[in-house]
Amino acid sequence: MKKDIIEKGAILQRDRETYAIAPHIPGGLTDSATLRKICDVADKYRLQLKLTSAQRIALFGIKEEDLDAVWSDVAEKPGAAIGLCVRSIKICPGTTHCKRAVQDSISLGMKIDALYHALPLPNKMKMGVSGCMLSCAEVAVKDIGIMGIPKGWRILVGGNAGARPRLADMLVETSADEGAVLAVVDRIINWYRNCGREVRLGALVEELGIERFRAAVLDQL
Ligand code: SF4
Repeated sequence: MKKDIIEKGAILQRDRETYAIAPHIPGGLTDSATLRKICDVADKYRLQLKLTSAQRIALFGIKEEDLDAVWSDVAEKPGAAIGLCVRSIKICPGTTHCKRAVQDSISLGMKIDALYHALPLPNKMKMGVSGCMLSCAEVAVKDIGIMGIPKGWRILVGGNAGARPRLADMLVETSADEGAVLAVVDRIINWYRNCGREVRLGALVEELGIERFRAAVLDQL
């Protein structure tokens, strides 16, 4: 029986025959040449396209024997759409475009993407970065959510929009300095990698309680 082919970023579809792939498009930021290239690949192999909730473009209907050729033609890295790893970093337009923004979510989010996208972890992890408290990147339901506030950034942990929905807890607020946020994110990731458990981060936050989680993760900052 066919199944997902993780090493090729290929997700078996409902027909149990064809696959979908989703090239990595950090933050959903792309350009017309990349879009044309993806459209050309879709035309060449007669694939369907879908914009995903992880700010990617998925290509559906790929035959198993075409997977390598499709990836070669797309010529982009796979997005981490499956597997136990950092899956996606959702990023709102922030101060680059949005009139309501108070922080530069694109700059911070792209740095986080470059550092952690696809990093293997005990379970899947989703992140979000919003440029203001309106939270268009849905940071309250991300494992790590980062929200721009007037004086800097608010970091939330343990959110999950899945089968057991959970709103994230507020971990800490930092200055506007991106380095301060990145230091906290690094502490969370390292603690999670070494925790010896295979559950989502939110389950651990719930088990420990946010006060003990905060102490465990931030004690050396
Ligand atoms: S979260 Fe705030 S800054 Fe980001 S797109 Fe929404 S309104 Fe704009």
